[in-house]
Amino acid sequence: MTEPTVPQLSQRALLASDEVVRIGLDEFFVKYPPTGSAGFLVPLGTTQVPAQSAAAAMGLNPLNLTNDASRRRSELKMLEHGLRMMPTAVYSPPQIGETHPHRTSIKIRYGGDLISGIVKFPGDTIVNCFADESGAYADDPPTRDAPFGYRGDGLQGNQKLTSPGNKRLEAARLEHAAVRFWHKPRGGQFTFEMWCMVVHRHWGWGIDTRGENRQEVVWTLSAIDGPDAGLPEDLIDSSASDPVADMDNTVGPEAQANPTYLDLVDRLETRPEVVHVKNRVRRDPARSLAARRAVLIRAGEECESPWCTGMPADRSVTDEPLFEVDHVEDLALKGADHPANMVALCPNCHAAKTRGSRAEERRRQLKKIANEKHAAAMKRNPRAAQ
Ligand SMILES: [Zn+2]
Repeated sequence: MTEPTVPQLSQRALLASDEVVRIGLDEFFVKYPPTGSAGFLVPLGTTQVPAQSAAAAMGLNPLNLTNDASRRRSELKMLEHGLRMMPTAVYSPPQIGETHPHRTSIKIRYGGDLISGIVKFPGDTIVNCFADESGAYADDPPTRDAPFGYRGDGLQGNQKLTSPGNKRLEAARLEHAAVRFWHKPRGGQFTFEMWCMVVHRHWGWGIDTRGENRQEVVWTLSAIDGPDAGLPEDLIDSSASDPVADMDNTVGPEAQANPTYLDLVDRLETRPEVVHVKNRVRRDPARSLAARRAVLIRAGEECESPWCTGMPADRSVTDEPLFEVDHVEDLALKGADHPANMVALCPNCHAAKTRGSRAEERRRQLKKIANEKHAAAMKRNPRAAQ
């Protein structure tokens, strides 16, 4: 088999090619946005772009790729201009550090699913995990120096290992395959932040988007140096993953309607050490829903910062205060995933604690406040509002 040669390009196709070279691919996408299906790319010399964009650049009517027949017609039309249509993502995989404003722009560039947290791009063999801090799972920032938890996919009902996303990640786990980890902080952009490998998975209790308790797959990911790096020896999982049948069948207080503070803290302090790693045992590194709920119960309606100038007038879509639950000592720096190390802050106070000029001072003050509030709540034992 010989490599396919670059097709002979028509005059108009060369114009489109020159345009890509002149303004760059990113600008080209903005100037000639792909409309409708952008699932195909066109080789322009050495550069490939969505067929829709190329058609627009050449002054062709927008291609209609919505069904097989029109796709065939479009392919013929592009062939008249010496252009070949191909699946996306076969040519230029994402580069570490690259950013996109949202999932839509990633889909335009690489194709694939827009909704699932765990996707493969067409023509690519690598699994991508997306973590959005303001998304349905409110994932916290990942950590580089310790394995971290990542919730599986499936918005409602018990999660299943056979759902498309979880199935992909389970295959990557079994093959010890590197995965791309994409992360979007609140108000920020999606960044291909690091290469990871799946260290472990287990089952945990959580609450779905309808507010019902359900079983969730909790993946444990670890950062690795590159796609071919492999896991450090001591992180290679020496145990089989929990079969779902082995899950604690008592629904934890974290997934109940109105647990008490004590119930949640008790759950946290007695949770099993589920991650068995060769030569050592790690406590579950996944953030606990129990810890988060306990802090929210403790805070009630008011920001826990003493220098707060007031909660926002707006409330969440579920009519709750707009809180951001913060680990005072960062989890990445071995801070505990425990209410004594956590505070519920309004968005302003959270920004001041993480980015303000007095951030270090605020952090020290909040450490003391978290401890005091935890001790007081243990005595009061407040219950979640129904
Ligand atoms: Zn505040």
